[in-house]
Amino acid sequence: MMISVRHTARLHKATVKRILPECHRCCRERAITIRKAVDRNKFLIVSLFFIVYALLGSGCSSLPATSEVLARDSEFIVLRVGNEDANTLAHRYLGDEKLGWLIEDANYPRSIVSGNEIIIPLQNKNPIGFEFEGYQTVPILCYHRFGNKGRRLEVSAKQFEEQLKYLKQHDYRVIHLHELYGFLKGEQALPKRSVILTIDDGHRSIYKIAYPLLKKYNFPATVFVYSDYMNNGGLKTSEIKTMNSSGLISIQPHSKTHSNLALNGAGEGKSAYRKRVRDEVRIPSRKLENTLGKAPRYYAYPFGDTNPQVIDELKANGLLLGLTVQSAANAAFTYPYLLNRSMIFGDRGMDDFVAKLKTFQAR
Ligand SMILES: [Zn+2]
Repeated sequence: MMISVRHTARLHKATVKRILPECHRCCRERAITIRKAVDRNKFLIVSLFFIVYALLGSGCSSLPATSEVLARDSEFIVLRVGNEDANTLAHRYLGDEKLGWLIEDANYPRSIVSGNEIIIPLQNKNPIGFEFEGYQTVPILCYHRFGNKGRRLEVSAKQFEEQLKYLKQHDYRVIHLHELYGFLKGEQALPKRSVILTIDDGHRSIYKIAYPLLKKYNFPATVFVYSDYMNNGGLKTSEIKTMNSSGLISIQPHSKTHSNLALNGAGEGKSAYRKRVRDEVRIPSRKLENTLGKAPRYYAYPFGDTNPQVIDELKANGLLLGLTVQSAANAAFTYPYLLNRSMIFGDRGMDDFVAKLKTFQAR
């Protein structure tokens, strides 16, 4: 990561050096014009007046409310930041306030605060996150239950908040799963420190404990439910609808009965297995579509297990991503139907959590 940051810093310096001389040349020409316009005796006084005027006008001694463009070409804008944040600048210069991260990443570790000179990249030349030193990876974390019963797959509210706080404080960006789809297609660049949160099975503690904390931190997450569990010990339809309508939580299928789709059951023939796979993919998908008015797009395999037949069934149902529980992060070249996820366990500490946040793979 340090190599990557140094690379960004070098890029920043080179860009400023390349573009800024035009600005300096312009200032020099203005000074010469003024000097010719005054007589020798008044030169000192007028020059002093001009310097003060120019400094005030250019914002060198006072910070304007809006940022000041120092130079620009087809690839970059160099500007001095006024009282604006990265999202406001992204809205103005990139046409989309959601691209504030692009400006933050291009200037990292320099902050986007008043008085700092920064660059705004106008072209996205690297949507798949490949660099000379290595390539970007996106970790997907996998949670299950929330509470204090001490189960291995259960994370307490305190632990969960500590983890969310860590992500916030260390500049990780929690993104939606649908953003990863664009990255895997080579079309959409992602923030360098992107992380995705997923929660499997559909326990009610998701609504009671995780959802309020996700709202507090404004972090999106994808909840994978198996449909037989809905309104039958698991999340209620009303809870699913409430979370879905928040815009933060996406609800997606995780089978009908939570059977292992990669295994033929005892005495299960080929045609019975084929029907089971079809039902375990199609039924929860249609149920969620009827509940939420939108066809689901992503599927988490029960126990993380899959095979080519299951993947074919996902494709036949318009599902675009399949998620396993292979513990690794995902590169742009990861097969979309074999996405890796790292399980988060309640009996492990913060060190284990932090180790799963791998956002760059050195070559
Ligand atoms: Zn599960």
